Amino acid sequence: MNDLPAMSPPVELETALRRASRPMREILERTLGGDELSEHDAITLFSAADDDLSALTAAADELRRRAKGDAVTFVVNRNINFTNVCYMGCRFCNFAKRQEESDAELLSHAEVARRAREAFERGGTEVCIQGGLHPKIAGSHYGEIVRAIKAEVPSIHIHAFSPFEIWYGARKSRQPYAEFLSDLKSAGLGSVPGTAAEILDERVRKILTQDKLSAEAWVEIIRSVHAVGLPSTATIMYGHVDEPEHWAAHIGLIRSIQKETRGFTEFVPLGFIHYDSPLYRDVPGVRPGPTREEHLRLHAVARLMLAGWIDNIQASWVKLGPALAQEMLRCGANDLGGTLMNESISRAAGALWGQEVTAREMVGLIRGAGRVPTQRTTLYQTVEVYETRDPDDLAPLVPRKAASAARELAEAHWRR
Ligand code: SF4
Repeated sequence: MNDLPAMSPPVELETALRRASRPMREILERTLGGDELSEHDAITLFSAADDDLSALTAAADELRRRAKGDAVTFVVNRNINFTNVCYMGCRFCNFAKRQEESDAELLSHAEVARRAREAFERGGTEVCIQGGLHPKIAGSHYGEIVRAIKAEVPSIHIHAFSPFEIWYGARKSRQPYAEFLSDLKSAGLGSVPGTAAEILDERVRKILTQDKLSAEAWVEIIRSVHAVGLPSTATIMYGHVDEPEHWAAHIGLIRSIQKETRGFTEFVPLGFIHYDSPLYRDVPGVRPGPTREEHLRLHAVARLMLAGWIDNIQASWVKLGPALAQEMLRCGANDLGGTLMNESISRAAGALWGQEVTAREMVGLIRGAGRVPTQRTTLYQTVEVYETRDPDDLAPLVPRKAASAARELAEAHWRR
């Protein structure tokens, strides 16, 4: 798998537009001229192939350049999945365990805090905390985690709890979302991952999971997050039973929320990892994740649709692998997300890319794409621009098992 073709040289925008079909060229020229890309036109762009696809990615690259210049950002962070016990039964998830399983885990607050300190000592500015919906935890568990981390490492940014966890914690605490979130914010929560969005369409969600948070509830919780002054990311999970009209409607909905709240920091396309997923194994007609072209289209169209509203488009190395993530930097993406240190959720579904891309490797990947590596905070303040200096050469916290991941990282460094 992942027999990736070498990166082709970027096609110059004018040439690419000239070669594109007339309908595609007209849409792209209007968008480059500042018109908002409609959902209808986005669906047309999602069918782009060959010369049309080159024009689409060149246009997205141009809007990326106008919005963000040549900087490509990343954050040094650590993922801490405090429990893998969950009974929600999302069919795409291979991470959740039942309590009685031998590898079921619920980390103590002291262990979560210890991991946060270890991350800080490795240069981390953020911890990203998410977990399953463990039937035994109380609503107060979420605030206790935040307080334990802040007591141990006061300066670290806590990016934590998906809208599904917020739904669960608020329900267990018998609090309205706004009150539950305000308490977390007072305890030290800094921002919220906009995961559990999958595709914000009820028919698609019913196939992915029977009991999952509704699209309406996801939107309500995200609005509450933003209303109490907490920023969040926004995500999409694509490449399973979804179609281009779902992608366009999903990104359109994210854009309309952003117009109201201005609370999203970035948009993160997350390709479905099918290998060990029950959804792929058990449900007929589920696709084996996105194709390379679909990854290109999704990142490019997201850049065009969200122009002026969400200017950070993230390529997820965990889902894509380093080489394909690097390729996304030429079709609209300007951010590579976090170094992670411990990644378990995608790995449980069969992703092969190890648990960490170190800061030094991030810098190599970004330079390999001909761009300027820039370490950022969670909220996109610059920590350091790596023009010539390299970050410290740290071994990954968890040794890599897959030789292919290490090899691809080494090769991606040099790919131009
Ligand atoms: S995706 Fe999250 S909520 Fe769904 S089963 Fe997995 S851990 Fe539970």
